[in-house]
Amino acid sequence: MTETTTSEQFSVVSTTRRGAIARWRQVLIPTTRDTPADATTASHTLLVRAGFIRQVGAGVYNYLPLAHRSIAKITAIIREEMDRAGAAEMFMPVLTPVELFAASKRDQDYGDLLFRVEDRHGRVSALGPTHEELITDLLKNCISSYKQLPLTLYQIQTKFRDEFRPRSALLRGREFLMKDAYSFHTAIEGEGGLKQTYDVIYDAYTRIFQRLGLDFSAVEAESGPIGGSASHEFMVNADSGEDTILVDRAAGYAANVEKCEIGERSHDLTGAPTDDLEKVHTPNLPGIDGVAEHLGVSAADMLKCVVFEPKDDAAREAIGHDWVLAVVRGDHEANEGKVRDLAGGAVVLGDEKRARAAGFAIGYVSPCTAESVSGTLLLIDPDAAQPGPASSGWVTGADEPDHHVKHFTWSRELGDTARGNARVGDIRNAVAGDPSPRSDGTLDTQRGIEVGHIFKLGTKYSAAMGLVAMDKDQKREPVIMGCYGLGVSRTLAACVEMSHDDSGIVWTPAIAPYHVEIVLMKPDDAEQAEACDRIAGRLADAGVDVLIDDRPERPGVKFNDADLIGLPVRLTIGGRSLADGNVEFKRRSDEGKGEPVALDGVVDAVLAALADKG
Ligand code: ATP
Ligand code: MG
Repeated sequence: MTETTTSEQFSVVSTTRRGAIARWRQVLIPTTRDTPADATTASHTLLVRAGFIRQVGAGVYNYLPLAHRSIAKITAIIREEMDRAGAAEMFMPVLTPVELFAASKRDQDYGDLLFRVEDRHGRVSALGPTHEELITDLLKNCISSYKQLPLTLYQIQTKFRDEFRPRSALLRGREFLMKDAYSFHTAIEGEGGLKQTYDVIYDAYTRIFQRLGLDFSAVEAESGPIGGSASHEFMVNADSGEDTILVDRAAGYAANVEKCEIGERSHDLTGAPTDDLEKVHTPNLPGIDGVAEHLGVSAADMLKCVVFEPKDDAAREAIGHDWVLAVVRGDHEANEGKVRDLAGGAVVLGDEKRARAAGFAIGYVSPCTAESVSGTLLLIDPDAAQPGPASSGWVTGADEPDHHVKHFTWSRELGDTARGNARVGDIRNAVAGDPSPRSDGTLDTQRGIEVGHIFKLGTKYSAAMGLVAMDKDQKREPVIMGCYGLGVSRTLAACVEMSHDDSGIVWTPAIAPYHVEIVLMKPDDAEQAEACDRIAGRLADAGVDVLIDDRPERPGVKFNDADLIGLPVRLTIGGRSLADGNVEFKRRSDEGKGEPVALDGVVDAVLAALADKG
C-alpha cells in the first residue's frame, strides 16, 4: 500500500543532456515575505513566497519560470512512464462541443462545474474538464474492429472546472494541468483486455510517484460497473489533504471512505425492551446532534433512518421494492454504494416530496415505516441492529414532525413480518476503530491529497455515444474503456506539502527547478565570478542544472531566499574560502552552515548528494 522512495534506480541528472545555467537576475523569481491572505496550506504560501506562482483570479495562476521548470520535469517523468506503458501521446482541444457532454449526460453530472462559452454564432462549447466524450467521439471514426485494439492514448493539457471553492492555489484550481489517458478494448479479461492495461498503468503511476519522491498510498476507490476494485486513487500522505482514507497498515489495505469495507460485526435484534416506548417533543432541532443534546443522549444512542429509492425502473425490478430504508447508528453515515449492494440494485436518496406523500415523515422517520409504508425494504447496519443502550434505549424518529421516541426496541416495535423482511449488513461509511476487513486488527484514518485516479469505465461512454467495434465473432459490441487521470499541477503542490520546513521548500532533486544554487557573494569580484562560471560549467557538463544568485544583495537575503526556493544543494563562493581553494557546500535538507569542499571535488560532491537524495 504505502510506497516509499526507491529512487536509487532512477538518475535525476541527465547523462546525455547538458545541464542548464541560469542567472537569478535573468529569471523572474519575485520572492516575497508576504503570505497570501487566503493561504491555509504550506504549498500555497511557499509557492507564492518563493516566486513560483502568482494569482490571476480565483483558482487561476501564473506559473513563473521556476514552477514552469518543475512542471516540465514532472511531465518528462510522466511521459517516460506512460510511453513505457505503451500509451501514445496526443493533444485534444479545450473547446468541446457541449452536445458531446449531453450525449453522456455529464453536462448534468458535472452541473455548474462545467465551464461553458458561447461563440459569435451562438454555439456553446464546454471547456474540457476531462476528455472521455471527445476521445470516444474521435475513435468512432477511427476504429471498427478488434484488430485495432487495444489502444491507449494520453495527453497533458490544461483542464477547466468551475470549482465552487477553489482553494490552496494549485491543489484545487479552476484551471489546472492534468495528464489524462484513455484505453480501449474488446474484452475485460485476458491478453489485451482492460484489466491488463489497467494493471500496467497502475504500475506506471507507482513508478511516476516514486520517481517524484512522494510518500503515497494507492487506495481502493469506488467500485463501478465492472465490479471488484474498479478504481484506485493515488493519494499523497499529507495531513493537509482534503481526503480521508482508511488503512490497515499491517495488512497493506487502504481504501477511501466511500469504498472501505468493514470487517465482520455481529448483531442481535432480539434484545428485551429497556422501558416503555416514550414519545418526546423535539421542536425545531436541526439534525441528530441537536436532538441528542436536547435529550441528553449521544448520537451513538440514536437510530438514523435514511430513505432511498431505486434509481430507475430496472433497479426497481432488481430490488423488488419501491423504497429502501437504511438504518444506521446516529453517529454513522449511510453509504449509497453499500446500500446499493445490499439492496441488489442502484439507489438514490428518496425524492423528498414523493417520500412524504408515501408516508415518510422526513427528518423524523423511524424503522417502523418499513411496516407502515408498503413496498419498503429494510436494511440495518450491524451496529444499529443491537439492543439499545440501557439508559435511554434507542432514540429514533416518532414518524411525525417535531417528535422522537425513546426506548425503541427492535423485538417489540417491529412485527415479525417487517423484521423478517429486514437485511442486516454493512451499509455505512467506515470510521477509525472499525474492524479491518483484511485482518484481526482495526482500521485507522489518515489524510491524503488525491494526485491520480484510474478507473475501469466499462462501456459507459462507448454505449452512450455509439463507439462499437467488431469482435472476433463478427459481432458489433460497445468498446470497453478505462480512463486514467493524473493532476500535474496538484502534484507539484503535493510535493511541497510533503517536503518543506519553516524556512521554505525542500525540493526532491527529481523535480527541483534547478539542482544547485550558487550563491555568489560578490558578483562584481572578477576572481569569484570566474570561479563561479568554471564550477557552473563543469556542473552543467555533468548534467546538473545550476542557478547562480548574482544579485547585488546582502548575504542574509540571498541565504534566506536560497532556503525559501529550496534547491537541493547550495554552493557559496566567497572571498576567504576561495582563497583557500574551497567553496562552501550545503544540502538544503541539512541543518547548519555547510562545509568547505575543494574546487576540484565540487562536481563529485554535488552528484553524490543528488544521487543520495534521489
Ligand atoms: P477531487 O475529488 O479532488 O475534486 P476529482 O476526483 O474530481 O478530484 P478526477 O476527475 O479524478 O478528479 O481528475 C483526475 C485528477 O485531476 C485528480 O486525481 C486530481 O489530481 C486532478 N484534479 C482534479 N480536480 C482538480 C482541481 N480542481 N485542481 C487541480 N487538480 C485537480
Ligand atoms: Mg477522482
